[in-house]
Amino acid sequence: MSALVDALRAAVGAPHVLTDGDLSAWEVDWRRRYRGKALAVVRPARAGEVAAVLRTCAAHGASVVPQGGNTGLVGGGVPDASGRQVLLSLTRMNRVRGVDAANLAMTVEAGCVLQAVQEAAAAHGLLFALSLAAEGSCTIGGNLATNAGGTQVLRYGNARELCLGLEVVTAAGEVWDGLSGLRKDNTGYDLRDLYIGSEGTLGVITAATLKLHPQPAARCTALASCATPEACVALLQLARARLGAGLTGFEVMGRFALSLVEKHFPALPRPLAASPWAVLLEQSDTESEAHARALFQGLLEAALEAGTISDAAVAESVQQSRQLWHLRESIPLAQAEEGLNIKHDIALPVSRIPEFVARTDAQLLAAFPGVRLVNFGHLGDGNLHYNVQAPQGVAAADFLREHEAAVNTIVYEAVHAHGGSISAEHGIGALKRQELARFKSPVALGLMRSIKQALDPQAVMNPARLL
Ligand code: FAD
Repeated sequence: MSALVDALRAAVGAPHVLTDGDLSAWEVDWRRRYRGKALAVVRPARAGEVAAVLRTCAAHGASVVPQGGNTGLVGGGVPDASGRQVLLSLTRMNRVRGVDAANLAMTVEAGCVLQAVQEAAAAHGLLFALSLAAEGSCTIGGNLATNAGGTQVLRYGNARELCLGLEVVTAAGEVWDGLSGLRKDNTGYDLRDLYIGSEGTLGVITAATLKLHPQPAARCTALASCATPEACVALLQLARARLGAGLTGFEVMGRFALSLVEKHFPALPRPLAASPWAVLLEQSDTESEAHARALFQGLLEAALEAGTISDAAVAESVQQSRQLWHLRESIPLAQAEEGLNIKHDIALPVSRIPEFVARTDAQLLAAFPGVRLVNFGHLGDGNLHYNVQAPQGVAAADFLREHEAAVNTIVYEAVHAHGGSISAEHGIGALKRQELARFKSPVALGLMRSIKQALDPQAVMNPARLL
């Protein structure tokens, strides 16, 4: 293996090939569920260097795990324990190559942190509309490789819909320049869409041309209390009818999810009394703040009158709006503080969510008395983070070891029965491979394997993830 390490040093420069010392920042995933051992951590600065790394690894029979900000939640971006995989970190490739304001597009390298991309767009008065709680550390390459969703999918779509073109280093070590800023290009198979969401299993995304939008004139945020999931869905329908495309966020938070935030982040203000469900709504307005407020006021009064909500608060300032978002974004962190839990990032038709929640809650509580259900997510997109925490007083690690498989069976069978998906936005990674094999149609799986075989016949790219 030292011949491989020497060749990698020749490809990217010796200081950018790490083999000794504490490499846990690259080898352990964000949730600390996966701990691997890399043969080397390699940090290229250009697409040409990435290509040289892939050719070198292929020649030595080594596999490559691409990594961006290492915030992925399914164990797809850390090496396995074999000590034979090369960890390819894209974080040195973090330049904004250009902003084309007239074409509402910008081109950035894959290692750009999402927040830096948003800020670069904002500096031109434009909006890059991908937003998620990990935006301070996740990278655009990782966002595209996982087809990330986040809090504005309702209005702007997920990462796939915000991407116009890609630069990719193929598994064979060739650079494909597909950095098109075109909105229309019907010239055959869509290679861009093949690499988006492929979780590093087909090639390495090295740059992307992204779709921008005009910045809204004003943003308005509100929090509303609902008694049931049915009421949350009714509020969504009303908000869509009244706000149309202005509705840019619709997040639900179950009572237990918010109680964890209260427990672990007591300094965060809660503007409303506890209720079974809280809904965070965001409206982006092209006219003015006054216009946004008037629309929100009308919506919330109508919802109160109909009994859909029992209370509501509209943020009076940017600071208050941030605090409301902070409540929502603190849920994953509060959960992590509480201990390991069994995560389910699921998608369902919005109309079937109330029935899914009622049935699955009841089944889980019957099977595991006292189990605590952390339910929150992007209801506007039909995406729930339906997580299961050990009963109070039971060690989280023991509960996971003994019951994870049975809990997953209950949840995923219910998702399947309600016409849903076992992965809405986090991907498959190492975590959900078995479930994918179980719930994806055999025809679809066969086609996916054919694509993998065609684009990466030597299985250089991220083996044993996704497929
Ligand atoms: P990594 O974790 O480094 O990698 C993720 C996967 O992509 C791996 O399989 C890796 O091999 C591959 N990959 C990374 N870079 C490249 C590349 N350049 N080329 C090819 N493959 C690559 N996700 C959502 O969708 N919505 C949310 O709301 C959301 N909220 C989150 C909140 C928190 C607090 C956290 C920690 C995570 C959240 N996530 C969410 C998970 C989300 O998948 C990641 O945050 C993000 O999209 C991954 O980016 P990353 O750069 O960290 O990728």
